[in-house]
Amino acid sequence: MFWRELFAAAATDYVRDMTLLFAQPDLSPRGRSAPLIDSFGRAITYLRISVTDRCDFRCVYCMSEHMTFLPRKDVLSFEEIDTIVSAFVARGVKRVRLTGGEPLVRRDILALVKQIGSRIGPEGLGELTMTTNGSQLAQHAEALHAAGMRRLNISLDTLDPKRFAEITRRGRLEQVLEGIDRAAAVGLRIKLNMVAMRGVNDDEIEPMLEFAHGRGFGLTLIEGMPLGEVGIDRVDTYLPLKEMRERLKARYTLEATDHRTGGPARYDRVAETGGIVGFITPMSHNFCESCNRVRLTATGQLYLCLGQDSMVDLRAALRDGGPGALDAALDQAMRIKPKGHDFVIDRGRPEPALARHMSVTGG
Ligand code: SAM
Ligand code: SF4
Repeated sequence: MFWRELFAAAATDYVRDMTLLFAQPDLSPRGRSAPLIDSFGRAITYLRISVTDRCDFRCVYCMSEHMTFLPRKDVLSFEEIDTIVSAFVARGVKRVRLTGGEPLVRRDILALVKQIGSRIGPEGLGELTMTTNGSQLAQHAEALHAAGMRRLNISLDTLDPKRFAEITRRGRLEQVLEGIDRAAAVGLRIKLNMVAMRGVNDDEIEPMLEFAHGRGFGLTLIEGMPLGEVGIDRVDTYLPLKEMRERLKARYTLEATDHRTGGPARYDRVAETGGIVGFITPMSHNFCESCNRVRLTATGQLYLCLGQDSMVDLRAALRDGGPGALDAALDQAMRIKPKGHDFVIDRGRPEPALARHMSVTGG
């Protein structure tokens, strides 16, 4: 009897020890390679990363003249960003866009571009892109291309030097045009982003279209969104792009296309130029039903909608969470991603829809 009990106890210990030895870390319930599908059935395949909230410009629709930036100690290291990217890629994310603030003002940013760029491959990341104001592009374009980047979005709201200085409050048009030329010369495909503002640059939409298409670039027109306190009256400058599209149609033949770049823009081909013009219309046409993206801030909060406050804290999961915490946070994100935003711009609600500036969430 004694021997039987002793044997049973030893067997129980053995089973427990083996279980501990071969146990997986405390993984999230859905696992490390489960695709990211939110509670509305949308597959999340696109991650935008704000690598810094700082910028060398102060565009009037984006920032106020005096901004308080995030403390540097709170900002994710490149290693942390790469760990997060790797978790997303393992769960089916195919596109990563680096943005900001101005991504090219973060020190040593090329090291991060190279690291993420090395994940591009048939089984890994499909594409790494960047949105930039172009101010630092002349010196960085070649290295971006060498690191595997093939497409860039460059923000350009005007071709008039004086107006450019007024809109950006800091920038020099000449420097940005030089950056654009360099990027095109090294073989980066370019799309220009133009925030269309009534009474500010709405007389330049046709010239911008000719400029872009004449160089083989796409053009995307964006409606101003009510994010953060800034320097202009958003009600007066708000320009519904539907109106702009009608104006373009009077001069050009716009042919609907199914061209998509993984973003919310709808594109037309302009028969006369052969180029593409896109319209991002968050205000006048809600595009949330096809949303495929989430946005990581420079300090590691994963925002699940540009226009809502729902988020999960990936920095806390990484730094304090232990094994499996990052994947569990991604599962939680899928559970709480909102159905959509409810931006409104009208005279009864002049205040921003969100206190958070676009430069924090990453436009
Ligand atoms: N600094 C880079 C740039 O300007 O391209 C990347 C970050 S910026 C926040 C990304 C995009 O957001 C830019 O094309 C910019 O024009 C746009 N943007 C910023 N604030 C906006 C707002 N309130 N409404 C609409 N677009 C905005
Ligand atoms: Fe800077 Fe881009 Fe915002 Fe302009 S739009 S202030 S360039 S982050």
